[in-house]
Amino acid sequence: MSIPDVQLSSLYQQVILDHYKKPRNRGTLEDGTVEVHMRNPACGDEIRLQMKVEDGTIRELRFLGEGCAISQASVSMMTTILKDRSLDNAMAVASRFTEMMHGDTEAAADRSLKDLRALQGVSKFPVRVKCALLGFDALQEAVEQTRLDRKEEGESAGV
Ligand code: ZN
Repeated sequence: MSIPDVQLSSLYQQVILDHYKKPRNRGTLEDGTVEVHMRNPACGDEIRLQMKVEDGTIRELRFLGEGCAISQASVSMMTTILKDRSLDNAMAVASRFTEMMHGDTEAAADRSLKDLRALQGVSKFPVRVKCALLGFDALQEAVEQTRLDRKEEGESAGV
């Protein structure tokens, strides 16, 4: 089995296919605090991301989705490194990954991206970059919504 249209080294291909076939943190949360649905119509990818955020920290996260191996593997990898991170820290991971997907070699050498580094070869295929970024688009939206909710709560409480 290979990933259509994308030529990657076989090691990276294996990591991607492993996440695609055995997605981590796939499912739903009973007590999520935010939920985002993202689509990439160009490829037909869909991701529903749920997070439980407490005190500015991502306590738990789950996703459901369908689409190409790159989009689904990327969101699976993302969920494995975001648990127990602060929203600021999660956004830092998102911008680092985005830099890598736009060809930044320094970001590609950053070990803190862990399995996500397997996607660096995808940066050479602009059409597929959107697939790889879809989970992070969902993350950014979820973080924005969480911050907005907090602000509104603060305002209604007169803080
Ligand atoms: Zn895709």
